Amino acid sequence: MEAKESPFHRASVIEVKVSCADEKCPFHGKLKTHGRTFEGSVIKKFPKRIVIEFYRTVYVPKFERYVKSRTRLHARLPDCKENGVNIGDYVRIKECRPLSKLIHFVFTEKVR
Ligand SMILES: [Zn+2]
Repeated sequence: MEAKESPFHRASVIEVKVSCADEKCPFHGKLKTHGRTFEGSVIKKFPKRIVIEFYRTVYVPKFERYVKSRTRLHARLPDCKENGVNIGDYVRIKECRPLSKLIHFVFTEKVR
């Protein structure tokens, strides 16, 4: 694979091993991240998109108890990370601008 060096390459980002021509890549493209970060396990994988799931506890004042709540988020998977992520992996995603109706997060790194 012939790797093309992007003019928008930022040297500050963590361990850049593979290069890619994906414009919406936070490491080699123009996509900027900001805001919230979440961690969760990958439950679905599509071309250029993953779905992560994580649980949190929410307090219900009426019953004075906690309830377990499930959150699922869609995140963009850049071309260069396509092979490194599989279903069941625990990953970290970061908020970015809305890329589609569902996607407003981008995959940043694999935790385990
Ligand atoms: Zn990339």
